[in-house]
Amino acid sequence: MAQIYGRVALIGLGLIASSMFWAMKRAGVAGEVTGYARTSETRDVAREIGLCDRVCESAAEAVEGADLVVLCVPVGAMGAVAAEIAPVLKAGATVSDVGSVKGAVIAAVGPHLPEGVHFVPAHPLAGTEHSGPRSGFAELFDNRWCLIVPQAGSDRVAVERLERFWQALGSHTDEMDAEHHDLVLAVTSHAPHLIAYTMVGVADDLRRVTDSEVIKYSAAGFRDFTRIAASDPTMWRDVFLNNKQATLEILGRFTEELFALQRAIRTGDGAHLHAYFTRTRAIRRGIIEAGQDTDAPDFGRGRKT
Ligand code: NAP
Repeated sequence: MAQIYGRVALIGLGLIASSMFWAMKRAGVAGEVTGYARTSETRDVAREIGLCDRVCESAAEAVEGADLVVLCVPVGAMGAVAAEIAPVLKAGATVSDVGSVKGAVIAAVGPHLPEGVHFVPAHPLAGTEHSGPRSGFAELFDNRWCLIVPQAGSDRVAVERLERFWQALGSHTDEMDAEHHDLVLAVTSHAPHLIAYTMVGVADDLRRVTDSEVIKYSAAGFRDFTRIAASDPTMWRDVFLNNKQATLEILGRFTEELFALQRAIRTGDGAHLHAYFTRTRAIRRGIIEAGQDTDAPDFGRGRKT
């Protein structure tokens, strides 16, 4: 595939950045890829495993001369990183990010960027519960969506170039405004994560059951919650602190529906439960038809019993 950017700088070298690096190498879309992580431990691991063509000792050094700079740090750290790199950004460069929240990141990063630099926020809807420089793999973005969030007055050439870049990394791309993005993600990702964290926390509180039984008899439902609840605490703390409004709105609706289901159970209203579960099953079918998940029982996990 033809090169899309001569030099790409990745700031933050965790799951998303490392997956981007391997996917860039697979696609051959970047000339040189530089990288920077805040701790020397992560920079050493990156050098050891060949993550990035050049691992730099500062964010400013990494972005010097870069055509594309991608901020791959937790949402709450984006503003400080933008302030640090702003003075050395190349004129005409594109600055993007992969943050799971868009409104707060745009507010934190945008004001630092000098004129003549294109700011095109993005969010790849792909991840795992693992984090750090060793957790990435080239296929992470294959067939997943990457939402591009152009700003008012964004340069169309820069936007379309970034879309082509994400497509080369394996993603489908779509454009969305920040407010809508944050609401959609509150429904599809942020509130579900909070519910998983809660459920695992509740099970842990029931010590008399948990010691061995919750683990031993952990069937699909709870096991899937524990997988989600193993996600990086810093990343998720920042997501909730920075997508407050949309997450609270969705959790409010969730609580209302939960109360309705609670009442149906208490009053023996089987029709309500059946109708509700029929509707949710259709949603699952839609996800599979859209190619966003596998139809294999238990998500295709091998059955040992
Ligand atoms: P990760 O594996 O935990 O890596 C985070 C990176 O950011 C590390 O290199 C870390 O450096 C650096 N970092 C952490 N705190 C920092 C700070 N205060 N200042 C500067 N650098 C800091 O995280 P990730 O999963 O790749 O997530 C990165 C971004 O992608 C987040 O904004 C997240 O919302 C977004 N995202 C994540 C997922 C997902 O499922 N994981 C999916 C889509 C988007 P050290 O290693 O040196 O500490």
